[in-house]
Amino acid sequence: VAGFGGAAFPTHVKLSPPKEKKIDVVIINGAECEPYITADHRLMLEEGEKILKGARIVAGLLGVERIILAIENNKKDALDYLRSLSNGSIDVVSLKTKYPQGDERHLIKAVLNREVPRGGLPFDVGVVVHNIGTAKAIYDAVYQGIPLVERVVTVTGDVHVPKNLLARIGTPFSHLIEECGGFKGEAKKIISGGPMMGIAQYKDVPVVKGTSCVLVLNEQRVKIAEEKACIRCGKCIEACPMGLMPTVLAALVRKKSFDTALEYSIMSCDDCGCCAYVCPSNIPLVQLLRYGKVCSRSLGKESR
Ligand code: SF4
Ligand code: SF4
Repeated sequence: VAGFGGAAFPTHVKLSPPKEKKIDVVIINGAECEPYITADHRLMLEEGEKILKGARIVAGLLGVERIILAIENNKKDALDYLRSLSNGSIDVVSLKTKYPQGDERHLIKAVLNREVPRGGLPFDVGVVVHNIGTAKAIYDAVYQGIPLVERVVTVTGDVHVPKNLLARIGTPFSHLIEECGGFKGEAKKIISGGPMMGIAQYKDVPVVKGTSCVLVLNEQRVKIAEEKACIRCGKCIEACPMGLMPTVLAALVRKKSFDTALEYSIMSCDDCGCCAYVCPSNIPLVQLLRYGKVCSRSLGKESR
């Protein structure tokens, strides 16, 4: 089993916190915050009981009594349904709908007012977070003996009939698009994930454990804007939920000054895309920061 949140973090690692870390809360993440994606929402409505049972398995393994299921307030039907199912045994909390609410660090701050230290992990503040899809996969593995072989994928954007599909791992994106009636117009981009954090892909790549969405965008929706010089407006700094300075980090990456970028906490960037979204100069900040992180890692410097 691996995390359904996109990064496909191995679940067994999250279930084995270091002995010195005392975990007192398990958060089940139902804050599906990227536009277009509704896979988690659908799963909560259709498999609520299995999600709750999976959450109890997680809590049991960690020896934790407090379980919080966090859902954004634009999914009222899921909130009501899971509250009625849990019957008070699990705290089902409603969160403000905002991006990037589903990021672990922001979620922990919003739900518990605890701050994960820079460079740290949720373990450091006594918390383990699992996605609702992961909780369902844990239920399948423990109660049914079924390994993680399928997941819900939102297929949306410029397809004729957008749907949430239960897809086998390994299914090519093109099969899912066909199942949704094919392309509407001429597809310009196929994105694995949402519009903020997703990555452009070819139509024949397969569904993997972290594939939450296949988003098709046609020519009318894809704007390839010309990059201009940074005008030092500071909008990217204001927008960064991690408190970073994207403009400075991007300049350091262009100069290959990875040591200094590490001093400026480049590894804390979670690829949310807020900086690039607001940049009036169309600077590809996220791509630059991703590149900077990969280079830092390959130089063996990520621990700093
Ligand atoms: S992508 Fe941009 S806004 Fe998001 S955390 Fe990284 S630097 Fe900050
Ligand atoms: S938002 Fe764009 S133009 Fe403004 S400071 Fe950041 S990188 Fe420069």
